[in-house]
Amino acid sequence: MTRTILHDTHIHLELLLEKLGYGQNFRKYIFGEGNPEGNNLTIISEGSAKISELLVNHQFVIQSTVSTSNFYLVWQLFKSNPKVFFLLGSHPEIVKHGFDMDAYILEQSKLLELIDIKNLCGIGEVGLDYHIAKSDELIKLQKVLFISQIEVAIKLDLPLVIHCRDAFDDLIEILKNYPAIWGKFLIHCFTGNKQNLQAILALNGFIALGGIITYSNTTELIEAVKYCPMSNIMIETDAPFLVPLANRENKVCLPVYIESTVSKIAEIKNLQSQDILDFSKHNAIQLFPLIEENFGNLQPYLTEEKINE
Ligand SMILES: [Zn+2]
Repeated sequence: MTRTILHDTHIHLELLLEKLGYGQNFRKYIFGEGNPEGNNLTIISEGSAKISELLVNHQFVIQSTVSTSNFYLVWQLFKSNPKVFFLLGSHPEIVKHGFDMDAYILEQSKLLELIDIKNLCGIGEVGLDYHIAKSDELIKLQKVLFISQIEVAIKLDLPLVIHCRDAFDDLIEILKNYPAIWGKFLIHCFTGNKQNLQAILALNGFIALGGIITYSNTTELIEAVKYCPMSNIMIETDAPFLVPLANRENKVCLPVYIESTVSKIAEIKNLQSQDILDFSKHNAIQLFPLIEENFGNLQPYLTEEKINE
């Protein structure tokens, strides 16, 4: 029997390990609140082995990053796994009262210069989250941070992976000011409506759909997905978060649960699951060309020239 070959355009492998009992305090460390203490080398190497096992049917995954400390951690944990492609970026959640923006941006630019990151495929996850930022001061800081990340992406000619919650109109207004990023961004875990989608498509953006599409009360989201061309859709888990409805017996979202999301999208689009996987992979390679460069065997989407090389 041929096994389904999967992929995932948005995952947090270190947080998945933490939820599965490997490593401690990763999440606190990521947000600058302490060190990942108690994480001895055995735990880390066992954890990396566990991830290889969980990704046995995956061709590639895109590991999100939410802060520079997070990047140091995930890079150490997963750099030897050829299936893991990395994003580097700063989630709007890291902004809090007293956040030292200048020092942070300086640290990030040093990191980008110092590390020759073989599988760095994009900048992310970055964006706006007004569910977290309740004050004008924090909203302003999130905007400054987001704009700095757009500028990094443009400078390095890398695609941008965006997190957006309760801030859609402001997000689109900012993106409109940067034509260089049009067609080169992905709104991860898209949960918006048809109008939101139209605004994204007007800038040639992509969306990634996760487990939320399988939940109840998603009529508006399903409407948007019906309307969206397959050329702009990718799949993700955002694991360990957002367990699909069919897998609710487990509190942790495992990478293989992407299959539940894929079947739901197939049902909405009246296509086969394999079609959804093929479109998503094709779109991922288009947005993140590094994935194809590092995996020469991503048939059937190789160009004639590549085959003849
Ligand atoms: Zn995420």
